[in-house]
Amino acid sequence: MKRISLIGATGSIGVQTCDVIEQHPDLFELEAYAFGSNVDVAEEWINRLRPKYVSAKNIEVLEQLKPRLTYEPLFFIGLEGLIACATAERTDVVVTAVVGAVGLEPTLAAIEAGKDIALANKETLVTAGHLVTEAVKKHGVSLLPVDSEHSAIYQCLNGERREDVSKIILTASGGSFRDKSREELEGVTVAEALAHPNWSMGAKITIDSATMFNKGLEVIEAHWLFDIDYNDIEVVLHRESIIHSMVEFKDAAVMAQLGNPDMRGPILYALSAPKRLEIEGNKRLNLREIGTLHFAEADLTRYPALRLAYEAGRAGGSMPTVLNAANEAAVELFLNGEIAFLDIERIVEQAMETHTVIAEPTLEEILQIDRAVREQIQQGK
Ligand code: NAD
Ligand code: MG
Repeated sequence: MKRISLIGATGSIGVQTCDVIEQHPDLFELEAYAFGSNVDVAEEWINRLRPKYVSAKNIEVLEQLKPRLTYEPLFFIGLEGLIACATAERTDVVVTAVVGAVGLEPTLAAIEAGKDIALANKETLVTAGHLVTEAVKKHGVSLLPVDSEHSAIYQCLNGERREDVSKIILTASGGSFRDKSREELEGVTVAEALAHPNWSMGAKITIDSATMFNKGLEVIEAHWLFDIDYNDIEVVLHRESIIHSMVEFKDAAVMAQLGNPDMRGPILYALSAPKRLEIEGNKRLNLREIGTLHFAEADLTRYPALRLAYEAGRAGGSMPTVLNAANEAAVELFLNGEIAFLDIERIVEQAMETHTVIAEPTLEEILQIDRAVREQIQQGK
């Protein structure tokens, strides 16, 4: 029996994780459930899976939830609540499904408490990759990817020797604006940006897919997860999202992992690996039906966000923290209708230009830079 803490439980990844846990009651048990403010979704899943720990964003949300529960768990709120859930005594693995750098402290606390991590929350690895990977080594826990591309790479690396890898090839669907030129991106709306062709996901990652910052964050995520040089990480556009990513080896052999786009696959694999389990409702791949798969270059002039992410990754130190914080702040402004779509990459580039890199930032320095960058962007909007 594997006991699971889920932080960010009412979101897209959170709900699919609950579904996966419910499908395997003999193998998985939900120990802790931390969410933001969606009381309806929280009520349903907490009553169904009966976790021992429950945490909400604040006391108002918690008070709304309490009378709707059919039993009495231990209650928590805020960042302390996320940390309490992430370090719950009996928990074996923490699924990090919160969005944004808010996941950093709970993830580090979980690692220090000896918990394995199933990582969806890529912003944590982008903002403090060196701290997270060091902590993972020090405490001897595993860090398993939930992101579909990284799950694919992880699966392609099964049984292979690390020194035989020559390159990682991340596939990118291109997001909602993949068929638009840069000129056509002037004046696109929030609703248009939120309409992703292949995946149904939270708002922030859907905007990140449209700007291509999502793939940029994933390049940095791959660097930390697989200890691979930025020169050996390639991005290729693949509009069908059938090949989830690939690994090329010294002898020019390429391994790919394929499947219909369904995040429950990678979520389940992060919890069951190296075993494979069934998932009800997961549509099997039929290549005859699909017929053709497309590939194209991910042009860094068309996608400045991808260029900025490579630059931030190569600069290293505190620069990815700046990239991530500026992007989070800019996406929020865009979603609130306060800036235009193309302002997002402009704001991130400006934040990076004015930053002086700290080579090995401490946790305190990262949190401080993260706050300062957000405040500056909020004030300058
Ligand atoms: P989402 O917006 O749907 O859900 C985010 C969850 O985090 C919600 O439950 C929200 O309430 C919670 N949350 C946010 N701030 C919080 C706070 N301060 N305290 C407590 N809870 C808080 O996002 P998502 O699409 O599920 O994505 C989650 C993470 O997984 C992101 O880092 C994203 O990049 C990554 N990811 C998502 C997908 C996907 O298919 N959705 C795929 C790959 C990676
Ligand atoms: Mg992904």
